[in-house]
Amino acid sequence: MKWENILIMLKEEAPELFATYVGQEEYSWHFRDKHGRFLARHSRRRVYECEVSERLFDKGLLDIEWPRRARLAVALTHDVDYSRMEMPYALRSVRKALYQGRFSLASRRTAGIFTKNHDPFTNFKQIINIEAQYDAKSTFFFLVNRKDFAGGNNFEELTDEINFIMDKGWEIGLHTGYFSYDDPRKIASEKKMLEKVTGCKVRGVRNHFLRFSIPRTWENLSAFFDYDSTFGYADHVGFRNGVCHPFKPCTPDGRIIDIWEIPLTVMDTTFIKYMDADAREAFEWVKLLVRKVEKVKGVITLLWHNTTFDELVYGEYARMYRALLRYFKARGAWLSSCGELYDYWVEIFE
Ligand SMILES: [Zn+2]
Repeated sequence: MKWENILIMLKEEAPELFATYVGQEEYSWHFRDKHGRFLARHSRRRVYECEVSERLFDKGLLDIEWPRRARLAVALTHDVDYSRMEMPYALRSVRKALYQGRFSLASRRTAGIFTKNHDPFTNFKQIINIEAQYDAKSTFFFLVNRKDFAGGNNFEELTDEINFIMDKGWEIGLHTGYFSYDDPRKIASEKKMLEKVTGCKVRGVRNHFLRFSIPRTWENLSAFFDYDSTFGYADHVGFRNGVCHPFKPCTPDGRIIDIWEIPLTVMDTTFIKYMDADAREAFEWVKLLVRKVEKVKGVITLLWHNTTFDELVYGEYARMYRALLRYFKARGAWLSSCGELYDYWVEIFE
């Protein structure tokens, strides 16, 4: 079935759910946070419900077979805001290691200031090793600007890492800069920079800080990418338009935008910065979402920053990633990168 036909049906048979699908409330509510974002706290919905997907599934429109007879898919992603520590972080972490009496770690940290071999943020190999143990792949979204807002990568230093990630079969996507997400010219030049290193077309994107204006962001990104995976709340886990499947965005008047959205469900910093949830509570939230998504054979998109893998600073959240993969696996999930998920999905719905 083509996605367009699903939307026509939804609009005719359940206009209230169609309004949720298109994000109607974001057009009629004008408060935004300091980064210009529509947040869960601005929404009138229960943001952890996927009511639109439930309706479509009940109508038999989403009864798909995931690979390996999985009950849900989990798209694994990492935004790479930093691939090297900045000096204040490095000094803070050296101090912390010393305070804890971990002297060899402290000296490795000090070395990490000078060489990426000891830098905890140049950790792509480590992440790939963890995922490989669970038969999983993921997508790394790279910020390509040398200096961005709360982030930046020296891209000339990263050629080996990018090649390593791609040779292993993991995916590279673009993490558009804080000031670029809304500017087609800047998006084009960042994509070009990234493709110069990857040597092939970059298919996916996520905006730094999850900055997003509906529907303009989709319109802008659709000119460059096959899929986006920005659409989620920064301040709460859940489903921003009641959909827990990849979907084609649509305006309230029924105009479909030619890009697939792989909606973001769970972000590490949401727990750490916004929900103030310790690992125990965070895990309960993930379990709740998994139960909902399983019922409709949906998708959870997980964002774990590469920086969060630094156990010295992020402790329980660093260890949580492995526990999450173990949990997903035990629930019979298909763990994939966004690109793999995209390829599988468009075979069915395009
Ligand atoms: Zn970012």
